[in-house]
Amino acid sequence: MTSITLAAPLAGWAMPLTEVPDPAFAQGLVGTGMAIDPTVNELRSPCDGVVLSVHRARHACTVRAASGAEVLLHLGVDTVGLNGEGFTAHVQDGQSVKTGDRLISFDMDLVGSRAQSLVSMMVVVNDGYTVDGQSVNREIAAGDAAMTIHGGSGADAAPTPAAAATADSGETAERTVPLRIAHGLHARPAAALVAAAKAHPGTVTILCRDRSANAKSVVALMGLGTVLGDRLTIRATGPGAQGVVDNIAGLIDSGLGDPVVEGAAAPAASTPAAAPAQPAAEEEVGPPFAPGEEALLKGTIAVPGQAVGTTVRRFRRSVRVAEQGAGEQVEEPRLRQALDRVVAGLTQSAQRMPDHAAIFQAHREILDDPELLDAALADIRAGKSAEWAWQRAARMQADALAALADPRMAERAADLRDLEQQVLTALSGKEPSVGLADLPAGSIVLADEILPSDLAGVPAGRLAGISMAHGGPTSHAVILAAALGVPTVVALGRQAERVPDGAPVVLDGNRGELLVFPPEDMLATTRTAVAARAARREENRRTSREDCRMADGTRIEVFANLGRVSDAPGAVVEGAEGCGLLRTEFLFLERQSAPTEDEQYQQYQQIADALEGRPLVIRTLDVGGDKPLSYLPLPKEENPVLGLRGVRVGLREPELLRAQIRAILRVKPAGICRIMVPMIASPSELQAVRTMVDEERAKLGRAEPIELGAMIEVPAAALIADRIGAVADFLSIGTNDLTQYVLAMDRGNPHVAAQLDALHPGVLRLIRLAVMGAKTHDRVVAVCGGSASDPMAAPLLIGLGVTELSATPAVIADLKAFIRTLRLEDCRRVAEAALGTDSADEVRRLVAEAWPGL
Ligand code: PEP
Ligand code: MG
Repeated sequence: MTSITLAAPLAGWAMPLTEVPDPAFAQGLVGTGMAIDPTVNELRSPCDGVVLSVHRARHACTVRAASGAEVLLHLGVDTVGLNGEGFTAHVQDGQSVKTGDRLISFDMDLVGSRAQSLVSMMVVVNDGYTVDGQSVNREIAAGDAAMTIHGGSGADAAPTPAAAATADSGETAERTVPLRIAHGLHARPAAALVAAAKAHPGTVTILCRDRSANAKSVVALMGLGTVLGDRLTIRATGPGAQGVVDNIAGLIDSGLGDPVVEGAAAPAASTPAAAPAQPAAEEEVGPPFAPGEEALLKGTIAVPGQAVGTTVRRFRRSVRVAEQGAGEQVEEPRLRQALDRVVAGLTQSAQRMPDHAAIFQAHREILDDPELLDAALADIRAGKSAEWAWQRAARMQADALAALADPRMAERAADLRDLEQQVLTALSGKEPSVGLADLPAGSIVLADEILPSDLAGVPAGRLAGISMAHGGPTSHAVILAAALGVPTVVALGRQAERVPDGAPVVLDGNRGELLVFPPEDMLATTRTAVAARAARREENRRTSREDCRMADGTRIEVFANLGRVSDAPGAVVEGAEGCGLLRTEFLFLERQSAPTEDEQYQQYQQIADALEGRPLVIRTLDVGGDKPLSYLPLPKEENPVLGLRGVRVGLREPELLRAQIRAILRVKPAGICRIMVPMIASPSELQAVRTMVDEERAKLGRAEPIELGAMIEVPAAALIADRIGAVADFLSIGTNDLTQYVLAMDRGNPHVAAQLDALHPGVLRLIRLAVMGAKTHDRVVAVCGGSASDPMAAPLLIGLGVTELSATPAVIADLKAFIRTLRLEDCRRVAEAALGTDSADEVRRLVAEAWPGL
């Protein structure tokens, strides 16, 4: 038992907790302590200690004092709803702090006007502490002695031996319910949950998205980082476990004191009709398919083509780890040895992939971070296993980093998650998995979801196919897969998890299917078909460098979509007549900061050189939405796909855009590059970019004008293409986003992936409107979205008046060969008929009837 005095974390009017205008705090449900109505905008540490967690909304943070007291500092009342707006965290989870160190600063005007109250609470949230004295009902200065607390049983940190014994011997129960409150388990609902959990003698754990928390700890619950719609599993052990689980499930369902968001998922039991909307995670997954047990899994077409091969599983496994350890003497050396193994692996990876050595070096630096290790060792000393301690330390730091405004720190969150897994694997004694770059030829990768970084180092021709349980057909990983020419099927669902490693499979990217343990004759026929297609492609390549003219002589230009310098030479070999979309955001990935103007210029110049004089359409940075860039300080958004992305980011960060414009303007010979701007909704946005281009051109003393085009991805832009065409030199339709916005279907959501088809007549009608609008100014209309690579779409797009297709390089030779067989008249007729159908399926049937060979 110890006494410590906590310093005032803020200056202002100090008051007893009972006066706080929040019943959960006022009634002491969150913990014991006091409050301050602040007159300053900086929250400071009340003691020496370690930051246990900074809430993802940055309005609260918990510091653990050396005595073990966990002090929650909560700025304002009802501030979680600001979602971080107005708050800047200056510390991260696991960081050591001294009394008076700055923890969080906040914008008093913004927070004061938007929150219910600025009154801020300082409460000790773990059991066993009493307040000996408080300095309240007076003006207090930051750093003044504010409150003396006494005690320290550590009851929250782990169940008492008696409780653990009860838990071990008693019943267990588990139930999953959705969280239906807008801001997740923030202090107030967490306190209500803790109050219910504490009434139970056994253990109560809440699991959410592969993380778990002791339900008797407010800090642990807040640290789960839950959000609206999360599914919480309540697990209890000990006598009466079922009762406590049901009680807590009921409390969670009724909002734990917060208003329930109507329309958010209700508990599964009460809404059987809602089954289709349940996330894939709810699907029952059976045992692995046995050799010879033929199984057909249906997903969504992402990259067309067929492949025969053997599966290589790459599921990101969420490892559920045992909490209790075998003692400090055992667990600490285990953790240190595992860390050494991971460091050795990183050194090898850096040698194997020298181009990416910086990434592995950065990972080593993270592992060397003493604060991360200290946080894990502190838990080990408290009796936890090395796995549990490491997972908690890594996750707390990853979450805190992800929430930080400092872009460099935020960038490291994903690295930490990666390292969390690597160290857990090392602790399990298993061999670390190799990257996709190292797979044997003929592998068909099976994964929950492949990320762009997984594919970054894969040489063309190495992977035979990709199949994903989740993911959408237009994700960036799919775009990279298409560039590599790897047939890909997405959204196969969790049945994909039943496919064992090393199983023979046929992946049909044309039908969106994966056939597991197919009969021998089917394997043989598909191998023959794949070989025949490869031969035909070789044949088509022989003429692919020639201009593309339809059978009636109509000229159609076929360009390539590129993402990196190394794609360009291959695209030329495939027959690209230029690059119709350089997705520059790929140049901005895998970095700690934005590339400089010079670095960008060099990359663009190299691509221009590789295109040997062919036109190069460079799209300005298209980040935000499904392409976040961690070092760009964009606010967290509820619905980022409808928020700051594309040109909206460029106009908000003009220096970033201007540097890119200058880099493009410097490429020689002048006139080879065109600038294309993503996510244009109004002519004024393009006009603003044009002004920047003109200003930068003048500064560089470049006399030659440069063509400036608008991407048509927002339905409004298609509708007013005649107005946008007045400002743009050319238009290019991004069918991936246009389809997403027209059909109101998230392009990354596997549940709607099957219906997300750019050949929907609604999308086709907008394309026709865009073409008609552009015609009033005689502007060329290109298509650079995924449908430009879809042979079924080509005749329709051409029939609607599109004259340039920018496709993924791997399909260009075949696409040009097909277009050469088409006649404009037929294309117009079928396109006209397609506009009068009800569905994309009907459109595809029309195309298949008109061109049966497809
Ligand atoms: C599109 O939206 O169709 C497009 C080409 O852009 P991206 O896929 O990069 O968003
Ligand atoms: Mg787009």
